[in-house]
Formats: sequence, C-alpha cells, structure tokens
Amino acid sequence: MRYVCVHGHFYQPPRENPFTGRVDPQPSAAPWPDWNHRITAECYRPNTRAPLLDEHGEIRGRINTFAHTSSDVGPTLMRWLERHAPDVHEAIVEADRQAIARLGHGSAIAQGFHHAILPLASERDRLREIAWGIRDFQGRFGRDPDAMWLPETAVDLDTLDALARAGIRWTILAPRQCAEVRSPGGGWQPFDSRRPYVVNTRQGRSIVVFFYDGPTSRGVAFDGLLHDGDHFAQVLAHASCDAGLAMVATDGESYGHHHRHGEMALAKLIEVLDHAPDVLLTNPSAYLVHHPATWEARIVEPSSWSCAHGVGRWSANCGCAMDPARSGQQAWRQTLRTAMDALRDAIGERDAASPDLERARLQMYTSCGWFFDGPDGLEAVQILTYALRAITLHRELSGEDLEPLFVERLGPLDDVWQTQVRTILGG
Ligand SMILES: [Zn+2]
Repeated sequence: MRYVCVHGHFYQPPRENPFTGRVDPQPSAAPWPDWNHRITAECYRPNTRAPLLDEHGEIRGRINTFAHTSSDVGPTLMRWLERHAPDVHEAIVEADRQAIARLGHGSAIAQGFHHAILPLASERDRLREIAWGIRDFQGRFGRDPDAMWLPETAVDLDTLDALARAGIRWTILAPRQCAEVRSPGGGWQPFDSRRPYVVNTRQGRSIVVFFYDGPTSRGVAFDGLLHDGDHFAQVLAHASCDAGLAMVATDGESYGHHHRHGEMALAKLIEVLDHAPDVLLTNPSAYLVHHPATWEARIVEPSSWSCAHGVGRWSANCGCAMDPARSGQQAWRQTLRTAMDALRDAIGERDAASPDLERARLQMYTSCGWFFDGPDGLEAVQILTYALRAITLHRELSGEDLEPLFVERLGPLDDVWQTQVRTILGG
C-alpha cells in the first residue's frame, strides 16, 4: 500500500485595529470589505463543501475537504471565522470528528498562536506561542493536538525541543530543511521524503518530522497541478512508494484563493484516491500508528520554507523580496526587529500583569510584518500598531513611557511610525 497526504496551512494575520477591536476597511479586497471576507468566500467556505461535477458540469455531490486532508487553521483565523463565518468554523471542527471516525485520528493540527518566527523569539515568548496555540486548539476541537505547524516552518533545535516539551509529537518541514538522515545504526546519507524521521534535541528530547514532497508541493503552489484533479491524484500517488508516505504541503489558500476553484481539484483527488486499490489518502497521525519513525534526521538550523537564507526574511537584508527589483533594499527588517526586541526587553515580564498588554506584545511579532518589501505595507504597519498598543497599555499601567526608546531604535522607520501609525490614533 502507498500512502499520501495533503496538508493545508490555513492562515490570516490578525487584522483588527487593536484600539477598536474591529477590522478597518481594506479597499484592495473589493468587492469584499476586507481580505478575510474575500478569502473565506473564495477558499475557506468552498473547501467545506467542494463540488464534484458530472460530465455535463452539473454538481453531483459535495465533499468537506478538511475531513480528508490534514490542516492547521491559525488561531487568529479560527477566532475570526467563529465570529464572521460560524458555518465554516463548525465545518472545520466537524471535519476533524469525521477523520477520527474514519482513520482513528483527527485531521486538524495546532499552529503557533500569533504566527511568530519561533527561532527568533525569546524563550519565554516561544513557550507562550506554543502553549497558547495548544490551548486554543483544545478549546475548539475538544482534544489535545498531536502536532503543530511552525509558522513559515521556521525551525531550530530549541524550537523543536519546546514543541516536544509541550507534548507535541510531530511537525512538518520543507525538504531543504533536512541536512541528512541515517537508519538505526547506519551512517549519515541524503534523505528520502517518503518516511518520517526522529529529530533529537540538545536537551535530550525528540520529535517526529515529516518532510513534504518538494516537486508535488511546488506543482500545487506554482505549477498548475490544480487544473486537473485526476492528474493531481496520479502525480501524488506516483510520488509515494510501498509503505511510504508522500505529502503535499502548501498554503491552504492554494485551494480556491491563489488558484480559482482549486478546491474542486482537491475534491476530485479525494474521490479518485477513495477508489484507488493501492493508495490510501491519510493523515500523518494515522500513518504513524503502523509506520513509526525509526530513522533519524538532522535539520538545517535555523531554516524556513520561504527564505533560502535561514530566517533572514524576518530579521535581515537577506535578499528575499516579492519584487526582484527591490531585492537588497530590506535593511528595515533588522531595524524593525531590533526595535521590537528593545521594546520587549524594556517591558520585561511586566506584560503578564495585563492580558491586553500581553496580547499586544505578542501580536507585534506576527511574521507577515517582515515578509513583504517595505516597512509601509499593510502588514508592517499592522505590527507597528500592536507595538503602539503595547506602549500605550504599558504607559497606563506603569506610568513609564517607552515610546522615545522605541522611536530611537526605529531610526529611519520613524517616518512610517509618524505618518501611518499615528494616523490610526487620529493624531
Ligand atoms: Zn531570505
């Protein structure tokens, strides 16, 4: 038997204005009021009821794709869905129950709470991001998570150790994050992504890592594999081998948002594989029951799936940019990281005195703030707004004003701070 798995990483950053608790209008998402509404209509809801068509193009059935795949839906997105699209939230939770009934193991896995880059976080923040992600999962799905998706698959050994310490059994990484592997008692050698591996931490703990299949995942994300669900099923089945597991892992938004009607290709794949005699579409927890990891892997650290320079995309002028013409113009990333870290250190453990301050302080590390090309984009301004919220709450609680320190560290980014962030407060 060959095994295959489709994993979707579903995520939207918190978009609420922290001073009003509401999402400000985002004209770029028109005709929807904001991007969360738009992507819900294009992807999240369609995947809970993805159509199967007959030869005349008529709908002959629907599939909740979440029940047949593996997925992590971020806590900030689940909280938004619960309020604004409760049918979608309920269908995702119900899908997990259906997977348990069919495979013995649920389809949902947890995610670091605020989508922070955990190798760049302080140890205290890292542990809180993991613990909050687990607690959110338990509250929604009514069970402990087996696994956690690391934001941007950003990893180092200390991050894996923190996951293991929290009771997390496995995670998913990109193939290029694997350095080498060895069989029990064997020598180090290049890896094969079709088996899970044990990674041992410096602190003596261990965790299982699945490395996804690179070519198939690229096919879904970038190379048009979702044009034809039959073909998608064949390619994925061929990527596996006897007793092996081939896993596709991409942003979940590939299925309907990045690729129009991608959810229909996924529904077709589910149907095709359901009838394939020698291929089983499963999830990693179910697979591990009869195929426990015995080989060991060493990871590349720090590393991530969307920066070829470790975790530079969120901390340095590493060369990564959306627009190639702007590559190398991202010195602001380090400036912003340094300023945030200075603010974090100045507040110290006093953020624990106020849940609102603690939340704002952690939200300011949402990874999207660093991902794009300039400090004046929607996402960077959003995390600066969280920093302003943290400064404001800290001032109210302690009387201490940390804005001068923060502005000094922002240096050239002070422009953005004054013109965009201050505008949000109307002054
Ligand atoms: Zn990079």
